[in-house]
Amino acid sequence: MKIEWQGEITSVQPRFRLLRSFDQRHHVYLGYALRVRGSVAGEPGEAWFGVGKVSQQKHQFEVGQTASGQARPVVDPRMESADFYKVSRLAIQCRQGTVGATPPWHGPAPPIETYRERGHRRLFKRTYHSAACSSCIWGARMPVEIVVDQWNPDQKRYRFETFCYGPKSCSRYRAGPTRKVPGRRGMTYEEEDWVDAELTAHRGADD
Ligand code: SF4
Repeated sequence: MKIEWQGEITSVQPRFRLLRSFDQRHHVYLGYALRVRGSVAGEPGEAWFGVGKVSQQKHQFEVGQTASGQARPVVDPRMESADFYKVSRLAIQCRQGTVGATPPWHGPAPPIETYRERGHRRLFKRTYHSAACSSCIWGARMPVEIVVDQWNPDQKRYRFETFCYGPKSCSRYRAGPTRKVPGRRGMTYEEEDWVDAELTAHRGADD
């Protein structure tokens, strides 16, 4: 059943899913997530809404706009960064966004290809939630599906990880502890700092 929502957009971020299997990882590019503060299913509150790439291209969602629509609760919250998706009857009441000169960075989120090309670094979960990274276009909270044993792919674990696609010089950035991925027979893979360094080596500090 669809719910009605309406309110101010307080964040626009990539809506990606991360699949891990020991030291292997790849992404599923679902689109974008809009955080809206206002009325959700008739109650005051805040929630994340998943929209597609085409919808972002068309509406150029950004922080400060007000919008409304309908949406469905996600079927499997372990696999989604949004609370609701399949958005319909979308309407933008105020198109004027708010852009500041310091992080967190607002404005319309870039194309998905830009995120892919930039690559990400791990972002401390606490920083994501406390230092406004949750409203930055370069921040991302991804659902993670871990295949613990590739010979027994039904054995999975789920969690969320936070990342930053933004400039490496950002004053708000904190990496936080390295991430550990469980593997078969009790083994653990530790994703060390060089992984992020290599993935973002093509960018300068301020890019
Ligand atoms: S650390 Fe990253 S996500 Fe946070 S404000 Fe800076 S660029 Fe944005």
